[in-house]
Amino acid sequence: MQTAQEVLKTVYGYDDFREGQADIINAVLAGKRTLGIMPTGGGKSITYQIPALMLDGITMVVSPLISLMKNQVDELVTAGISATMINSSLTTAEYQERIDGLEHEAYKLFFVAPERLDDPYFYQLIQRLPLDLVVIDEVHVLSQWGHDFRPSYLRAVAAIDNLANLPNVMALTATATERVQADLERILHIEATVKTGFARANLAIKIEKGLSNSEKQRFIVDYVAEHQEDVGIIYAGTRKKVDELAAILKARGIKAGRYHAGMGDAEREQAQNDFLYDELDVIVATNAFGMGINKTNVRYVIHLTMPGSIESYYQEIGRAGRDGLPSESILLYSSADIRLQRFFIDNSDNQEPEYRQNELTKLREMTNFASTAMCLQRYIIQYFGQDMENCGKCSNCTDTRELVDMTEAAQKVMSNIIRMNSKTNGTYSRTQVVNVLRGRLPENMAWTHFDELPTYGLMDRWTLKNLNAFVDSLVADGYLNVAGEFNGLQVSTTGADVLKGEQTVMQREQRKVSGTSNPRVKT
Ligand code: ADP
Repeated sequence: MQTAQEVLKTVYGYDDFREGQADIINAVLAGKRTLGIMPTGGGKSITYQIPALMLDGITMVVSPLISLMKNQVDELVTAGISATMINSSLTTAEYQERIDGLEHEAYKLFFVAPERLDDPYFYQLIQRLPLDLVVIDEVHVLSQWGHDFRPSYLRAVAAIDNLANLPNVMALTATATERVQADLERILHIEATVKTGFARANLAIKIEKGLSNSEKQRFIVDYVAEHQEDVGIIYAGTRKKVDELAAILKARGIKAGRYHAGMGDAEREQAQNDFLYDELDVIVATNAFGMGINKTNVRYVIHLTMPGSIESYYQEIGRAGRDGLPSESILLYSSADIRLQRFFIDNSDNQEPEYRQNELTKLREMTNFASTAMCLQRYIIQYFGQDMENCGKCSNCTDTRELVDMTEAAQKVMSNIIRMNSKTNGTYSRTQVVNVLRGRLPENMAWTHFDELPTYGLMDRWTLKNLNAFVDSLVADGYLNVAGEFNGLQVSTTGADVLKGEQTVMQREQRKVSGTSNPRVKT
């Protein structure tokens, strides 16, 4: 029998495994229930395909991504591997043919959507097959801490666990927070977890702040026009924005396509294929696009609007540069994006309090990321529970503006928060904190007598915008914590060190606004 390394060479033509691949494959072949966590583009497919080829029997892959099964099957068949998928798009004749094929072991691998396991006839059938491995793909949707939580996937897992002929299970995801990992290990009774480094050395992460809607559009049109040789993805928050931007790009003569859940199946599939087969230079899409898309030469990913979590964001920008060549991601961040994401949470079908709170927390973590002065890649890696050196290529690492000591200003903000909170035994949102610092006390807050605090009006020379941004940056860098449904501010332990003078707060000088020498201050 061939070794895994030999299969890698003969079937895929690769000489070496990438980080984590051999560990996952070995764990699976040793019969352990294995969880594989690798970033998008890390090479997860091979980790289930090679065991599938090496094991005697059949491998079932359960994936929530029906739209991509066809591409996955096509790729396998092209590589000479007998594979098929069973889904609702099949005619009765096709369905029967594939079922017969399965029964006669004509396929080494087959793909199904989780709902398929609800079908008693199908469930009976798979129990008659010589199954060797069940793969659960995009498994983070099982965890309420992951993005795209789908409780119905849990039913599929229960069905898998109840299979009379259950051999071994492996699960794969690109979502790597410790919370999600712990959750999945528990739900799936995992015996071996392999988690690779999440840093993407070839990816330059950039954030552009403070652009208006029309400036964002102009930015994108110019960028795409300047990068005509390259292929890119632009993510927008709503279908309407997708349609608008795609139309603008097309009007400029750019080969742009669009993709969102409001389009018909055929039109969506066409757009996806046009993009995969290089008929398009750029695709404008909602987050409905891209999970599992295996296009290696995407050179840039631009976010017209900020996604609702760091997990989704990292997965989306991970679609750039899967071939390892230098690539770029640009987040066009404005505070209106927070309102849009809030709107999505408020209007989500799922209004369970715990779920809602998770979504709000994830949104806040994403907003913190957008305001940090730290290395952006490192910030994300730390968020995933790992660490790295500064990347040297993100928009914070390459920021040439001078570092300014903002310790005193930070102390003012924090001492004000402590005074407000202790005077009333409560916590207050950024808006309320900034109001007091700027010497404003709305009528409905008169009862607090915050105007008697020594910090009242202490920062009245700051513009509203700059002070808001400054407070946000203190949250982002961990000096302040935000708690509760109303986003009340509190001083963290790191913040307390700053107050005691044991730590300094260094920040980049703000961009010059209208020629003032200290742009934070109104003249
Ligand atoms: P993921 O599913 O983790 O996002 P894929 O499995 O689609 O990533 O792999 C991403 C790309 O990397 C694919 O083009 C794949 O062929 C390539 N790849 C995977 N493993 C290797 C390897 N060991 N050597 C070289 N290229 C690889």
